[in-house]
Amino acid sequence: MLHIGGRSAPAADGGRFDVTDPATGEVIASVADATPADALAAVSAAADAAESWSATTPRYRSEVLRQAFELMGQQAEDLATLISRENGKALPDAHAEVAYAAEFFRWYAEEAVRASGEVMTAPSGGNRILVLRRPVGVCVLVTPWNFPAAMATRKIGPALAAGCTVVLKPASDTPLTALALARLLEEAGVPPGVVNVVPARRSGEVVATMLRDSRVRKLSFTGSTEVGRLLLHEAAGRVVNSSMELGGNAPFLVFADADLDAAVGGAMIAKMRNAGEACTAANRFYVEEPVAEEFARRLAARMSALRLGPGTDPGAEVGPLVNQEAVDKVDGLVREALAGGAKALSGGARPDRPGFFYEPTVLTGVRPDAPILREEIFGPVAPIVAFSGEEEALRLANDTEYGLVAYVYTGDLARGLRIGERIEAGMIGLNRGLVSDPAAPFGGMKQSGVGREGGHEGLLDYLETQYVAVSW
Ligand code: NAD
Repeated sequence: MLHIGGRSAPAADGGRFDVTDPATGEVIASVADATPADALAAVSAAADAAESWSATTPRYRSEVLRQAFELMGQQAEDLATLISRENGKALPDAHAEVAYAAEFFRWYAEEAVRASGEVMTAPSGGNRILVLRRPVGVCVLVTPWNFPAAMATRKIGPALAAGCTVVLKPASDTPLTALALARLLEEAGVPPGVVNVVPARRSGEVVATMLRDSRVRKLSFTGSTEVGRLLLHEAAGRVVNSSMELGGNAPFLVFADADLDAAVGGAMIAKMRNAGEACTAANRFYVEEPVAEEFARRLAARMSALRLGPGTDPGAEVGPLVNQEAVDKVDGLVREALAGGAKALSGGARPDRPGFFYEPTVLTGVRPDAPILREEIFGPVAPIVAFSGEEEALRLANDTEYGLVAYVYTGDLARGLRIGERIEAGMIGLNRGLVSDPAAPFGGMKQSGVGREGGHEGLLDYLETQYVAVSW
């Protein structure tokens, strides 16, 4: 069913599509497939609810979001199982996602009451400059399948805190979590029409239709750079305020003075969270020559010890990838690297079992021009390249159109900060393999995006600034 104006509704043309379990290929649900007319009905519901929602007090919106945080905690088991079933990720990853996703509601419950403005005296002294903030209006939110809960709450939390209403178009591989969140938000006290969800297979048509509607004032997209570029073109038609969280190609630098155990531990998190299906996943490992071999050996030992299994199986550490296309892409990149002279220290193939699994893989001797170093792998594969010296490390790290995140391991904090300042990435993990934090501004430079989610910046993305020149 679609979720429009607080009610479950079928698609206008009765269309539906199947949701499958990536561990087995089994159909687990059938969902209404929104048409452009349904998308417009959702925009109408959001527009109708906008005035009264924006007129609620910040404290009220804060309490509702706080309640949503509490409910996510109470429903964590069910939500994690749902995420694991439709996305495939191992249950520990799914639980971690639910906790992370819920934190966006708690953080923005706290930020809802902090949308402050400014007053200053004009330099001429002739008047005051009053800076006010107000909700941007109806927002279209488009999210990917890799974090079906967190990518939605990272947008819905600040949007609702700011006083905006939303239409969420989730990825068609994972619409069930988004629908569950819409119900949870209404249970928490969000009025009908404030959060609407329109799963749709014809995503291009459905989103473009909404962007052409003059009531829509903002687009917030998380997904691939390719689709982001396309949506920026579409948003340009009506100059729709746009935030973009796009793809990544994160370098993971290990200097010879790093604590190697910590670096391998960090690499496991940066690479294997979600089986590598994360925009923040370490995509290219650059290790200083004296420790490159040892790092590769230890990483391969940890990777080959991981237990593969359906996400919902107790004990499974690595679930399947999301679909056949994802496995084919990962396998193609690995084969190309091997054909170019790389060596697999672990994995390097699809395991012989049903489901969309891929073996955790470590590659060494990867050629610098190999596609696996240029494209998002989005799977459990770690290509390692040796470097010598800071300048070469920086040149390699910055040699990409992406700029989302970079990881740096070194025993010398000054060097870590110096390198961090010269890496073109919106986020740096310094001696850490995990950067995501609802209290911090998440986002990319270069073709990894525009705008930030999380932190105080995330709230500002849903507020218009209005200035009043006044004499008093
Ligand atoms: P995708 O770009 O294929 O799809 C993202 C969303 O856009 C989905 O809801 C999809 O249905 C929709 N979509 C696809 N084509 C569209 C079109 N023409 N018009 C409108 N909507 C369209 O990405 P994906 O495969 O779902 O997710 C993986 C990508 O997301 C990776 O590139 C990853 O790096 C990126 N990602 C980025 C972040 C971040 O915060 N920067 C977070 C998670 C994922």
